[in-house]
Amino acid sequence: MLDFLGDLRRTHMCGALRASDAGKTAVLMGWVNRRRDLGNLIFIDVRDRSGITQIVCDKERNPALHTKAEELRNEYVIAVTGTVKLRDGNTINKNIPTGEIEMIADEVRILNESKQPPFLPGDTVLPNEELRLQYRYIDLRRDAMQRNIELRHRVAIAIRDYLSSLGFFEIETPFMTRSTPEGARDYLVPSRVQPGSFYALPQSPQLFKQILMISGFDKYFQIVRCFRDEDLRADRQPEFTQIDLEMSYPQPERVWEVVEGFLTAAFKAAGHAIKTPFPRMSYDEAIRLYGSDKPDMRLPGMTDVREFFGQENLSTLSISPALPVVAIRIPKVGELSRKERDDIKPLFNARGGAKLFEDFKRLEKSFPETAAKIREKSQAEPDDLIVIVAGDGKPGEHKSEGGVKPEVKQHDHAVYTAAGLLRVALAQKYAAQHGAFSKTGDPAKDYRFLWVTDFPMFEYDDEGKRWAAAHHPFTSPHEKDMDKLESDPGAVRALAYDVVLNGTELGSGSIRIHRQDIQRKIFSALGMNEDEARARFGFFLEALEYGTPPHGGIALGLDRIVMILAGADSLREVIPFPKTARAVDLMVDAPTPVSESQLRDLGIQVKKS
Ligand code: ASP
Repeated sequence: MLDFLGDLRRTHMCGALRASDAGKTAVLMGWVNRRRDLGNLIFIDVRDRSGITQIVCDKERNPALHTKAEELRNEYVIAVTGTVKLRDGNTINKNIPTGEIEMIADEVRILNESKQPPFLPGDTVLPNEELRLQYRYIDLRRDAMQRNIELRHRVAIAIRDYLSSLGFFEIETPFMTRSTPEGARDYLVPSRVQPGSFYALPQSPQLFKQILMISGFDKYFQIVRCFRDEDLRADRQPEFTQIDLEMSYPQPERVWEVVEGFLTAAFKAAGHAIKTPFPRMSYDEAIRLYGSDKPDMRLPGMTDVREFFGQENLSTLSISPALPVVAIRIPKVGELSRKERDDIKPLFNARGGAKLFEDFKRLEKSFPETAAKIREKSQAEPDDLIVIVAGDGKPGEHKSEGGVKPEVKQHDHAVYTAAGLLRVALAQKYAAQHGAFSKTGDPAKDYRFLWVTDFPMFEYDDEGKRWAAAHHPFTSPHEKDMDKLESDPGAVRALAYDVVLNGTELGSGSIRIHRQDIQRKIFSALGMNEDEARARFGFFLEALEYGTPPHGGIALGLDRIVMILAGADSLREVIPFPKTARAVDLMVDAPTPVSESQLRDLGIQVKKS
């Protein structure tokens, strides 16, 4: 079968040869990255995953070889035997690691030909993404993709090794299972043997990992695929990979320590020494200071400046006295022109009764004292941009929505989050000016981690007019807030936490409920009666009754971590075979209709629309 290789064995990777190898005989196998024909001399760059070596085929030295080299085309797979030689001083290429040497070829064998690919791995200009995804095997040959996939491998191995060294077992959980509680839409798999019944692909291994604690495994992890049928955004994929873990008897701090440990190992594998422990901030504080539950700490937080607005200013400016007034500061933006101020306005989403004052100069003119105090409290430098977000003072704006949450809290929240979204939008718009998003090489500045803690247990679902679990219904409430479960669900805090990096949520987790009686109360607070709960999670509720140890865990998105480490701007750059925003795999062309007989076997009829 491999006769054409004869007794050839690859002796070196293409990117591994160095000046110290001069004089050695080497056998390289790889792709023709480029061929330059200079008449008597033909240069071939031969490439494998480690890099490129320049091969020289000299007509005078070896005419037959030179003729063979003339046949070579881009992406042919070849084996080259030859001698490594130092390049002449003026031909040294400092841009590649093998640039000090070249290989004088004695023999070239063509192991396989290639059609002219739609684009070349060595191209400097990228083709459009559809073509890259359709010919993913060509795209993956590109240096950048090879590096991303290698990085992913190194990060995953570092995490596995670290967790294993702490006594965690990697345990697999099923892909064909029942609906899990994350609350997105499930991908369903029809059963042939039980027509009309469906498995669900797991949105996460949540219930299985809890059951593994009930089963006595104490420390579990898994680098595992999860499936969620959601509308896709740039940072979402229908199937994605989580670093999922669960442990028995932990305080939240113990879970955080484990995560900080494996992230340190993962970042080290990518060449960055990060510092632990990560700072911590309660959800309430994150909302007040950043207007977000995933604060980007690379820029200053917001400043509460309500105290500087007297009654007179409030009514002149038509600001609600009952709501927060916050200053957003973006460093080094300089003074904005009128047009630039107009450009900012659409970045502000005024929903929820919040209003924007983008012209700080004007405020300064009318209310110099107030403006001076705002500058001072927000520690603004003269060339910083300051904008103010406040509650709109128009009467009748603050009616309670749903009537369940305390009115003021909900509107406070609306002002903070409107300000928080604007802060992020301004930060992106003026990235070139403030420079806080550019990498400095100092991990303490480049990677700002944060734990956000004490999330609310419930969120009010305006559409469904009911309370929903903010994390998932197996999250434990704070012991101290148990008595508010019925009287004031909006005030109940959960033992839930998120780990955030540079304004991106990397993962979330919680201490779980391990007692059946409390679990029942939570279901009832969520408006789920006993029968419904039994129908959805009966097996799990039963398991809880057989001596469940207290337990907790977390899951982090591996794709996202690798994306950040790779400096990529899309998850598709770090997933070997990703799907498009329409959940399509362009290479294999999935999903597709299936044959009538397959449908018949499954007892399924597709409605023709
Ligand atoms: N299963 C949760 C999720 O995927 C994470 C956790 O609570 O551990 O979001």
